[in-house]
Amino acid sequence: MPDAPGSPLAVRDGGLVWHPYAPLDGPEPYAVEGASGVRLTLTAPDGERFEAVDAMASWWCAVHGYRNPVLDAAAHEQVDRFSHVMFGGLTHEPAVRLAERLTEMAPGPMAHVFFADSGSVSVEVALKLALQYQAALGRPNRQRFLTVRGGYHGDTFAAMSVCDPVDGMHSAFPGALARQVFAPRPPAARLVTTPTGEDHWETDRLALDAWAAEVRPLAQTHTDELAAVVVEPVLQGAGGMHVYHPDCLRVLREVADEHGLLLVVDEIATGFGRTGRLFASEWADVAPDVICVGKALTGGYLSLAAVLMTREVGDAITRSEFRALLHGPTFMANPLACAVANASVELVETTWKDHVPRVGRLLAEHLSAAAALPHVADVRTLGAVGVVQLTSPVDVTRVTRAALRRGVWVRPFRDLVYTMPPYVCTDDEVRVIAEGVVGAVAEVHA
Ligand SMILES: *Cc1c(COP(=O)(O)O)cnc(C)c1O
Repeated sequence: MPDAPGSPLAVRDGGLVWHPYAPLDGPEPYAVEGASGVRLTLTAPDGERFEAVDAMASWWCAVHGYRNPVLDAAAHEQVDRFSHVMFGGLTHEPAVRLAERLTEMAPGPMAHVFFADSGSVSVEVALKLALQYQAALGRPNRQRFLTVRGGYHGDTFAAMSVCDPVDGMHSAFPGALARQVFAPRPPAARLVTTPTGEDHWETDRLALDAWAAEVRPLAQTHTDELAAVVVEPVLQGAGGMHVYHPDCLRVLREVADEHGLLLVVDEIATGFGRTGRLFASEWADVAPDVICVGKALTGGYLSLAAVLMTREVGDAITRSEFRALLHGPTFMANPLACAVANASVELVETTWKDHVPRVGRLLAEHLSAAAALPHVADVRTLGAVGVVQLTSPVDVTRVTRAALRRGVWVRPFRDLVYTMPPYVCTDDEVRVIAEGVVGAVAEVHA
C-alpha cells in the first residue's frame, strides 16, 4: 500500500515504481527537489539534503544544463503553438527544420531522416532498414548483423541482440534474441593531446592488426547472411566506457564495403561533440550509411532520436516492394521535442568547441590523481568523458553517497566511476566533479 501523504517520496516510491535495472525493494532513490544550471537539489532517503553538480548530465543528455533559458524559451514557444500532432499525412516546421540541420551537420552525405521516440527505437529502425535495404537489392536472406563485443545499443529486442552477449542481458532471454555475429572488442586506445594541442592516438598496433585479422574472415564466413555492421564509433558507452582506435572503425567500413553491408553507427552517446568531435565517426574520417542519434539531441529535455541515412539507402527502399520504411511511432517527430532539439543542436554547434576540449583537459588533469589509488586499474578521458576504472566492482551505494558529500552526483556501474558532465560546467565545477570522484573512490575503496 502507498504510504500516507507527507511521507518521504522515496518511501512512497518504494515497491510501487520500477527503476532502471533495479529490484522493487532495491536501495531507495534520492528525490530530486530541483535542477538548475548544472546542479541537482536532492533529498536522500534518510532526509539528508544535497546540492550536487550533475556529473552524469542525466545519462549524458543534459549537455546545456537544466532550465537552460534558450531551451526553456524554445519549449514555451512551441507549447504556445501546439505540443503534438500526428506525423502520418502531416508535417511541421520543427521537424523539417531539424531534419535539415541534422543532415547538414552529420558526417558523410546524409539525405534522409526518420524520427523515433527513443534511442533504442532508432536502433530498431536502423536494423529494420538494413533488412529492407538488402531485400530491396534481392538479398532477402541477409538478416543478421556483424558487431563487436562490449557494445550497448538499447534495451528493445533487436537492439539487445547486438549488445554485448555476456554483459548485455542475453542470458535473461535465452531463445528470444536473434543470434548475431560478434567480433572481438577492438583493443583499447588512448587519445593523447600534446602540450601544443595536437591529438594523436596510441594503441597496441599488433593487437589492432590481430583484431582486424579476426574481423575480416568472420565477415567472409557470414557474408551471405549479413545485412549490416552495427557499432558505436570510437567510444563504447554503457558497455564499459571503452575507447578504441579510429582505425578499427575504418576496418569495419572496409569490411562493410567488401561484403555489401551497410555501416550503421550508433552515435546516440557519442554525437553532438561528446568525444571531442561533433560526431565520433569523424575521428576516423568514415562516412557511415546510417547514423542513429538521440540522448543529447534535445539537451535532455524530451525523448527524441533520429535515424539518418544516405540517398543510396533511401533510394533502395523507395524502389522496394513496400516503398516505405516500415515503422511509425505514435509520437514520431513530436513537435515539442523537435523544437527543443532545434534549439539544443544550434547551441551545440555554437558552443561545443569552446566547452568540450576545456572540460576534457580539466578532467584529465584532475582525475589523474586517481591513478595512484590502490584499487584503481585505469584512468582515461576522451572529449568530455572521464573514467576511473577499479580493479573490482564499485560499491555503488557508498561511492554515490561519498561523492554527494563532496557535492557531486555520480551513478557508477560495474567497475566504473565515470563522468559525462554538462558541457556548460565552469572550470571550477569540473574540478569539483573530478575531485569528488577521486575523493569518493579513495574513501570507499581504500
Ligand atoms: C543510451 C543508448 C541507447 C539507447 O537509447 P534509449 O534512449 O535509452 O533507448 C542506444 N545506444 C547507445 C550507444 C546508447 O548510449
